[in-house]
Amino acid sequence: MATAAVRGRLTWQTATVTSVVTETDAVRTIELDVPDWPGHLAGQHLDVRLTADDGYTAERSYSIATAPGEPVAITVERLDDGEVSPYLTEELRAGDQLELRGPIGRWFVWDTSDGGPLLLIAGGSGVVPLRAILRHRQRTGSDVPTCLLYSSRTIADVIYHSELDMYRDGAEVSYTLTRSQPPGWTGYSGRVDAALLAKIAWPASQHPLALVCGPTSFVEAVAGNLVALGYPAGRVKTERFGGT
Ligand SMILES: Cc1cc2nc3c(=O)[nH]c(=O)nc-3n(C[C@H](O)[C@H](O)[C@H](O)COP(=O)(O)OP(=O)(O)OC[C@H]3O[C@@H](n4cnc5c(N)ncnc54)[C@H](O)[C@@H]3O)c2cc1C
Repeated sequence: MATAAVRGRLTWQTATVTSVVTETDAVRTIELDVPDWPGHLAGQHLDVRLTADDGYTAERSYSIATAPGEPVAITVERLDDGEVSPYLTEELRAGDQLELRGPIGRWFVWDTSDGGPLLLIAGGSGVVPLRAILRHRQRTGSDVPTCLLYSSRTIADVIYHSELDMYRDGAEVSYTLTRSQPPGWTGYSGRVDAALLAKIAWPASQHPLALVCGPTSFVEAVAGNLVALGYPAGRVKTERFGGT
């Protein structure tokens, strides 16, 4: 059985788009029907493969946006000069088919047995796997102390805003806006730097588990600062989405 499950994860299969949800101007959630999906853990990702008429293929990874037990969905941010994300966010419609394989990844995951306190730090679309973790925490009734810090450029770029606000009932949810803040903004402003982390992060003495996800430079800066705060490297899980 285990062998079949592993082989199944690595096999390309055809999924059908069941809906496309607009999250922000540049971000869409693509909900999928995947007939042979073996199930996934919170935080895992999948690979999408597009094939052009001339046979040219392009593959990209996308975090799974939903909790274990929920239908598979991905949330994609359009990069205007990108090869794959403009197609996924602008062209794809309900009823279209997509090749994918997964779930992938055993390290950047969280299950209730991993405990906490849990520190979740996201930059931009890096919030996608952390949303899956927050949903899983909620669905399992876990009371692990949890803190989400989410960095976006502007308020209009915050993905899943109303859903994340709901997690305030039981978790700490903080936003920081790096480029501009709306009138009356009560969240943080500016980048996730050492000073902000020192303010919001659980002290290392409480043995927290951190999961950090976003653009590569964001993840490296945050992880470096957490280690400087005394977090052991093994308690800082990272997922780099690419870019600078
Ligand atoms: C494990 C994993 C999970 C991922 N999950 C998600 C997800 O949930 N949602 C999501 O939107 N993306 C996610 N990504 C990023 C995704 O795989 C693609 O890299 C992204 O969609 C850009 O692909 P593209 O073909 O449109 O751009 P490309 O044609 O590959 O790149 C266009 C330009 O954008 C730059 N670039 C590439 N990726 C990024 C980036 N992430 N940020 C900024 N600049 C970039 C490139 O250097 C290049 O200059 C994930 C990546 C990994 C490795």
